[in-house]
Amino acid sequence: MSSSDCIFCKIVAGDIPCRSIYEDDWLLSFYDIHPVTPIHALVIPKQHLTSLDDLAGTDRSLAGVLLERTAFIARQLGIASSGYRTIVNTGSDGGQEVAHLHLHLLGGGRVGPMVARHP
Ligand code: AMP
Repeated sequence: MSSSDCIFCKIVAGDIPCRSIYEDDWLLSFYDIHPVTPIHALVIPKQHLTSLDDLAGTDRSLAGVLLERTAFIARQLGIASSGYRTIVNTGSDGGQEVAHLHLHLLGGGRVGPMVARHP
């Protein structure tokens, strides 16, 4: 299932180009167009899920694949031993800009501190 106005669904469909890193039946990974670290990849399910909040009990296999493949991709990119950060922004307070579940994979150098603490 895809959403016709979703930019990541268009990337999955091949209608918008990306710098692809990895693809299988479930997932696609590609470089973020505005990297914030030397290596900044996105890992997305091919199925359109709006956010982490859209994951239901039936998606447990997908959730497992998403995490396991992200670790695999980190190894492929050569950043597993030095370390990396994974982030899933959810909804407006979470800073999510693209409404298609995605995981940020950040590394290739020391990743800065987490977001500012609550005052
Ligand atoms: P988020 O704020 O968590 O929704 O992150 C969305 C990310 O998607 C941002 O880091 C954008 O730079 C990235 N992005 C948006 N459009 C594209 C695109 N066409 N190709 C690659 N990355 C994109």
